[in-house]
Amino acid sequence: MTPRTWAACALAVLVVALVVAVVVTVPWHRPPAPRADQLAALREFPSAQVARARAFHADLRPATYGALVLGLVAALVLGLTPLGARVVELAGRPFGGHWAAQAVLGGLAVVFLLEVLTLPFAAWRHTIAVRYGISTQSWGGWRVDLLKGYAVGAVIGGIVLFGFFAVVRLAPRWWWAFGAAGAAALVVLLSFVLPVVVEPVFNRFTPMADGPLRTELLALAARDGVPVRDVLVADASRRTRAVNAYVSGFGPTRRIVVYDTMLAEADPAEVVSVTAHELGHAKEQDVLTGTLIGALGAATAVVALFLLGGWSPLLRWAGVGAIGEPRAMALLLAVSTVAGLVAGPAQALLTRRIEARADAHALALTGDPATFESMQRRLGTVNLADPDPPTWEYVMSASHPSTVERMAAARAYARGER
Ligand SMILES: [Zn+2]
Repeated sequence: MTPRTWAACALAVLVVALVVAVVVTVPWHRPPAPRADQLAALREFPSAQVARARAFHADLRPATYGALVLGLVAALVLGLTPLGARVVELAGRPFGGHWAAQAVLGGLAVVFLLEVLTLPFAAWRHTIAVRYGISTQSWGGWRVDLLKGYAVGAVIGGIVLFGFFAVVRLAPRWWWAFGAAGAAALVVLLSFVLPVVVEPVFNRFTPMADGPLRTELLALAARDGVPVRDVLVADASRRTRAVNAYVSGFGPTRRIVVYDTMLAEADPAEVVSVTAHELGHAKEQDVLTGTLIGALGAATAVVALFLLGGWSPLLRWAGVGAIGEPRAMALLLAVSTVAGLVAGPAQALLTRRIEARADAHALALTGDPATFESMQRRLGTVNLADPDPPTWEYVMSASHPSTVERMAAARAYARGER
């Protein structure tokens, strides 16, 4: 068997493993909240408030989709013409065209070029968020965040690029196998260390102050049988008025984080409700599930890229000899961009299912659907969410059930449907 046949077999095995992981770990059986309850919940929102939320999202759309289209077109132009290979060559030229310079500097140059092209759209989104009072960030703060993001991306990206192209050089026929294993290991490593290494670059995390709320949250976790050492508060108010909470990391890096805005805006009972949702994620090991699916997806992508590299028209368009050379970086990026757009709706579907399960967990743990519903109403109101967004947008990108779906789930629970 040739390496190519082995790769085709590995791809088949990985796709099967991915499908099995998705089928087994994602809660598919839960029926959606009744539409009648959703509409009843929607009617409780003041119409001016719904109109303002919808105007906010309508104003954001041209910037969001403008960036999407421009990013896609630019990636395709760079990747499917010799232009991208040229950028990589130029970046490596001061170092005599050394492969490592082409790999790291060339790779980062292509990514940065695409980033800069869509930057005006990001700035446009920022002005809209400020105008609607969601963002509290000055241009100075916005710029600092941007530069921090570039710095983090350059460090992680530089290591990945060097590692990937080094493996291709060491094992020209079998790099896909090492690359797939490396990509999967990287996803696991990042998921583990990002909360303690990268998140603190952007926010300060402090243990929640001693008091009745902290005591109640830790008691809730103990009652749920979820070991939680601490509940952390993030200083989100430095850039946003939006309220949120999340759980990240796993094992020793697992943490439940509540935005300081949430503590300022919401009633303590609502914070308990949100924390109960996050405990649901912890109890069901959702971060681990996401990491596993991400790792399998990354390994699948590497093997698929290797096989795609056998398609000579693609290489001809890009003006490269092989898909594993640094000059093919833009081609890799173009393929990844298209794959990312195609995978987006599937990914959103999975996370919506997992989020609905965490909601059900919160309802069962607190036994308090009324507070859960008021918490959802507050989250939607403060965050200027469209309580019942357009179907196409929901299907394309919604990571969570809509506000009215979540309120309807609480109503169904209150009636004893669970
Ligand atoms: Zn969640």
